[in-house]
Amino acid sequence: MTEDFSARAAAWLEGNAPREPVAKTVEARRFQAALHDAGFAGITWPVEYGGQGLTEAERRAFDERARRFPLPSDPFLIGLGMIGPTLLDLGTPEQKRRFLRPMLRGDEIWCQLFSEPGAGSDVAGLTTRARRDGGGWVIDGQKVWTSRAEYAEWGAVLARTDPDVPRHRGITMFVVDMRSRGVRVRPLRDMTGAIRFNEVFLDAVRLPADAVVGAVGGGWDAAVRMLGHERITISERRRPRDHPASYAALSALARERGVAGDRHVHLRLAEVYRAERLAELLAARLGQEARHGRPAGPRGSAGKLAAGRLARLAADAVAEVAGPAGLAWVPGDAAAPRLAAALLDAPSARIAGGTDEIQRQIIGDRVLGLPREPAPDRDLPFSRRATGTG
Ligand SMILES: Cc1cc2nc3c(=O)[nH]c(=O)nc-3n(C[C@H](O)[C@H](O)[C@H](O)COP(=O)(O)OP(=O)(O)OC[C@H]3O[C@@H](n4cnc5c(N)ncnc54)[C@H](O)[C@@H]3O)c2cc1C
Repeated sequence: MTEDFSARAAAWLEGNAPREPVAKTVEARRFQAALHDAGFAGITWPVEYGGQGLTEAERRAFDERARRFPLPSDPFLIGLGMIGPTLLDLGTPEQKRRFLRPMLRGDEIWCQLFSEPGAGSDVAGLTTRARRDGGGWVIDGQKVWTSRAEYAEWGAVLARTDPDVPRHRGITMFVVDMRSRGVRVRPLRDMTGAIRFNEVFLDAVRLPADAVVGAVGGGWDAAVRMLGHERITISERRRPRDHPASYAALSALARERGVAGDRHVHLRLAEVYRAERLAELLAARLGQEARHGRPAGPRGSAGKLAAGRLARLAADAVAEVAGPAGLAWVPGDAAAPRLAAALLDAPSARIAGGTDEIQRQIIGDRVLGLPREPAPDRDLPFSRRATGTG
């Protein structure tokens, strides 16, 4: 059964998958719709919501085949990896019917509006506010680092709906139509030169009553659930084989540049190989367990940490193998710009989705049972929290 599926996936990918990275979102959407029509999107999601209703075995078989091609899955990562699974966990039947199929087809792209200028690692400190208005809600505030908001149609946003209860209890998650009046997206350029995240301003944005995901006041639990899916998604996200900072690409480059025999290069490459295997095995295990009913919960932080560690070691190896060409290069050196971009991109893996420090803290608190960091205002109403530095 899985062999049949795997062979079908291989044949379809051979005939339809791009050979070169797809730059335009419109083409990525077209490919995603074709993927869905062919029966390869949402492999484990329920059929009634547009999925294929198949098992983890088929999903893994497809991923293994797909890895050989530069599939344009990036625009859909937040929807399919994080928001879709959270809606499957907590959404109403209407929300699932309304949102999941267009998400799977790439018709509607999603973003996640959690982080704020003053609330990144400490998401529970957020100040974006939603107040009831008639049957619905009105939301005001500012978000930052919102990946894909520059083209997303929908977002999952966390807002404070009750400032008079302790900070973790007064938060609600909503879905917001990014085309609503009062939503303003301002792109930010990162140090690789790309626009990959944005500031988002929410100015008296009106939301209907059925925009609430889960329970009013239950936003922290919904966020923890989504962050759990996020860690698994980030750690499972396997770099394509030709990624310039993969072991395969780096060892080929080292041979090409005649430095493969160098002791330092050799050691660096061995570290990358080990870290790559470790990250892959850990992610596969956590992902498999999660889909068999044992959610990774705080253990997912180990997968996220492994992915961040791999990014750091791979960046060190890029610097070793590329030498000065990783920073400045002669025109015509085709590999160098990609290596430089890989170097500059590496730190983001240790920040996005929660920093390494925060993952270590989660493991310490909730997996190892070590003493928690003191939080004197944990049980105080949010409106009475201490602010400022005085
Ligand atoms: C590429 C990228 C994409 C992103 N995409 C999104 C997105 O789509 N949606 C979204 O909502 N957010 C997104 N983010 C934001 C990301 O989740 C935050 O940057 C991250 O959670 C850290 O928050 P911060 O930047 O506010 O840093 P801060 O919380 O200000 O932390 C600064 C430093 O202090 C450390 N620190 C903070 N608190 C503690 C503590 N208690 N103990 C020890 N160390 C601590 C941190 O580890 C960090 O090193 C993205 C970030 C990046 C880099």
